[in-house]
Amino acid sequence: MDLQLLDQTLAARGEPRFRATQVWRWAAAGVAGYEAMTNLPKALREELAKEVPFSSLEVRREMSARDGTVKALFATADGRPLEAVLMRYRNPPGGGDGRRSICLSSQSGCPLTCTFCATGAMRFVRNLSASEILDQALHFRRQERVDHCVFMGMGEPLLNLDAVLAACERLPDLGISHRRTAISTVGWIPGIERLTECELPLRLALSLHAADEALRSELMPVNERYPLHEVLGACRAHYARKRRRIFVEYVMLAGVNDRYEQAVALTKLLAPADADAPRMFKVNLIPFNPTSSPFKGSSREAIAAFKAALEEHGVQATVRLTRGRDIDAACGQLAAKAA
Ligand code: SAH
Repeated sequence: MDLQLLDQTLAARGEPRFRATQVWRWAAAGVAGYEAMTNLPKALREELAKEVPFSSLEVRREMSARDGTVKALFATADGRPLEAVLMRYRNPPGGGDGRRSICLSSQSGCPLTCTFCATGAMRFVRNLSASEILDQALHFRRQERVDHCVFMGMGEPLLNLDAVLAACERLPDLGISHRRTAISTVGWIPGIERLTECELPLRLALSLHAADEALRSELMPVNERYPLHEVLGACRAHYARKRRRIFVEYVMLAGVNDRYEQAVALTKLLAPADADAPRMFKVNLIPFNPTSSPFKGSSREAIAAFKAALEEHGVQATVRLTRGRDIDAACGQLAAKAA
């Protein structure tokens, strides 16, 4: 719901200030509409239903994968596409930790042009507002409880940090603590520095993808502007201040960044001899979700070998489960098709 419009509408009616909080609490608890807000006068509920659309987003498509992943394609009020994903993990005896993790978009399209990414191939449209970010989360909250959030949908969150942080401030009301919220970046240094100063204990995730400057610039042209060694400097300063381990995202591309020497080079980059190093970074190896780009994902075996090489050199690594492959769940895939 457009929270600014809500405030204006309440103010225009001369409503007391606690009304906005009441409305938000109900929305964050996952109710379906204003009629459920029983501590609000009926006339007010009716007026809000007319004046303030319950969501700033319209669901255009929703798809469920066999593994329980749900992906929603939304349109903003001005018709801009964006998407968000709910990932359900199994409950404890089945192996998972039962988490319900949502993956949110911060922009419609993306101004960066990572060559393997479907969103990167799309036109940049605009930043999303805090309300448009929250409405993605509320959409899934209305379906079930949620407890983790990653900004790994469309867009670069650090290019829209005011709105992202405003949304993060409210996520705990939906059940998602700051510690369970991760902001993923290509390495936009001014944004990393702002997050370092920010009081909220959010998790930083860095999309690294290549330990070598030249290869990284090929995959992620933003590396020309903020080269990897400077980005890692900003990450080290972040860790020194926040003492929160940084997740390094590494998408596994066959024959491009998955060789043994490249794993060793990555460990040299992440684990220099200082005492903090082993705790500072954890690598998440991401199986590539095929897009219309020429890239192919590394085989399971290549990913396992890469992980073993990292661990052999003292860097902790996990392989991300592939989720929702049958529904185009990778960053931007659905919206790019719709566009
Ligand atoms: N702009 C931010 C957040 C959005 S992308 C960032 O780059 O971190 C979230 C993650 O998904 C990034 O690590 C990105 O590189 C990765 N990604 C993009 N396309 C992918 C694909 N087709 N398969 C697997 N991971 C992909």
